[in-house]
Amino acid sequence: MNPPDAAAFLLHLRECPELMEAAAPHGQYLTGADYDQRLEDRHLCLRCGAGARNAFTAETDIGLRWLDLCNACSYEIRKVNTVSSGFYYGRLPS
Ligand SMILES: [Zn+2]
Repeated sequence: MNPPDAAAFLLHLRECPELMEAAAPHGQYLTGADYDQRLEDRHLCLRCGAGARNAFTAETDIGLRWLDLCNACSYEIRKVNTVSSGFYYGRLPS
């Protein structure tokens, strides 16, 4: 099964931010260690279900949320993401 269109996927997440796990429920700032831990916890890519290789964060109406993506989806999302979409790329792992 093909993953959803990248732009439609971002739009869907904006409308349903609860699909992403809360990243900073207490409003704290995230550190590099938080991103490292997120990757070590081995989540699945939210777009296609493959193993996530990148941990991003997204600022939403319900707070900062995790956006876990594999490398292929990260590339596709980067192509369509704009500043106005409200999605950040907090940190790319090495
Ligand atoms: Zn993916």
